[in-house]
Amino acid sequence: MAVSDTPSDEQIAHFQKAATDLLGAKGFLIAPDMLAPHVKDWRGIFLGRACGLALPANTAEAASLVKLCREYRVSIVPQGGNTGLSGAATPDQSGRSVIVNMRRMNRIRSVDIANDTIMVEAGCILADIQNAANEADRFFPLSLAAEGSCQIGGNLSTNAGGINVLKYGNARDLTLGLEVVLPDGSVLDDLDTLRKDNTGYDLKQLFIGAEGTLGLITAATLKLFPALRARATALVALAGIDAAPKLLTRCRAATADQLISFELLPRFGLELAQRHFSARNPLETAADWCLLIEAATPASDFDITLALERSLGEALEAGEIADGLLAESETQRRELWRLREAMVEAQPREGAGIKHDIAVPVAAIPDFVRSAGAALAALDPTLRPLIFGHVGDGNLHFNILQPVGIEAAAFQSRTTEINLIVHDKVAAHRGSISAEHGIGQLRRAELARLKSPVALAAMRQIKHTLDPDNLFNPGKVI
Ligand code: FAD
Repeated sequence: MAVSDTPSDEQIAHFQKAATDLLGAKGFLIAPDMLAPHVKDWRGIFLGRACGLALPANTAEAASLVKLCREYRVSIVPQGGNTGLSGAATPDQSGRSVIVNMRRMNRIRSVDIANDTIMVEAGCILADIQNAANEADRFFPLSLAAEGSCQIGGNLSTNAGGINVLKYGNARDLTLGLEVVLPDGSVLDDLDTLRKDNTGYDLKQLFIGAEGTLGLITAATLKLFPALRARATALVALAGIDAAPKLLTRCRAATADQLISFELLPRFGLELAQRHFSARNPLETAADWCLLIEAATPASDFDITLALERSLGEALEAGEIADGLLAESETQRRELWRLREAMVEAQPREGAGIKHDIAVPVAAIPDFVRSAGAALAALDPTLRPLIFGHVGDGNLHFNILQPVGIEAAAFQSRTTEINLIVHDKVAAHRGSISAEHGIGQLRRAELARLKSPVALAAMRQIKHTLDPDNLFNPGKVI
């Protein structure tokens, strides 16, 4: 019988009994209050139903659970910390899915100093991996605001980015090997620690960024890097958005490519940080656009602060920046980063938001920002764009905040027309409608509209080959 056939209530009851026998009372929960936090997404946009919450304790249990799900035709929604921003870890409304949360599989299996690798289970919290790396005098660079609760399995499945992509790449670039339970219940042991392995297709890449649609990641081998010895952090007022790509090239060269963050902060965002959290912009010059720049080095004999200071001095002379400030202490550095965080946290206090997570080539950023901004203003001048993010990677969070005096529901009813404007501008600049947050449920229709038919067909073929019964995370991505 095909898994796509919906299981009856009786079959679901049998499945619940069999899953409890397999995983024990601690490993399989059905109480509504236990399920409640897992059936809605972090932003509260999506709400689903599930017939259980499975918490496998090891890979063998996870594999047996997948086989059981096949037998009873119960679909699987893999879940990590449930911090995803695209509704990819939220079940649908059928109540015929089981959520498989990996939080009990949270062991750091090993740290290999000579090889500069760490082997971790999928349920490890990202911050715990960073700490384990620190304890070994190494650096694990994946870093994002949700790092205290997101899990590495979720990070890999969303190919997470964050604040250090500029130098170290995203989750994909940091991965050497994976262990995955495939939809047929077999375990793919691809936990390579090798940096060179050309024995056919690089299968792990299929599961990274697949948002749980192709299998369940149970463990990973990740790259470590030398510990950072010194940091230099600056806030600068840009002369204009056109200067951003030029300044990026300048700072990269001057710091011997040790630039790790290059974050765009708009005037509106800094105003919100001040309004809601009293986080004050210390620059005297009011500019439409600021940049938070950080360089860091593992070399103890390289004066990274001097290198950044010099390049900012040259940028001032070249008219690329109007003002700038280098953090002189760790406290001041934290205050500068607090501006960035407060700006993000302030958004819900301003009402509803229609959010986009886009990427365009770095050189195209000024033109994209201008043309998308103009198109939105032409639609409705009361819309409030808040455009910020990882400009060094070409990744902007292009959020539109609820206009003052307009009801949230009325504003949100315009989501589709606003998405069309922003995403069409992205497409016109050969960009991506999801730089780091994934497709999930949120952007599925837009993916179907904008991704090439050839690419979509290839994705569907891969999905069908690995998961012919559509067992894993149905209704997500494609
Ligand atoms: P979940 O949300 O639980 O799941 C995400 C996806 O991964 C789902 O499709 C799920 O099915 C799948 N999945 C989870 N675990 C597994 C597994 N073991 N095997 C197979 N599939 C699995 N993201 C960024 O990239 N950069 C940022 O800077 C960033 N900042 C954020 C800031 C805040 C405040 C918040 C709330 C989120 C932010 N995010 C960011 C988004 C989010 O934190 C990331 O997408 C993160 O990688 C999700 O991890 P998670 O463990 O919470 O996964």
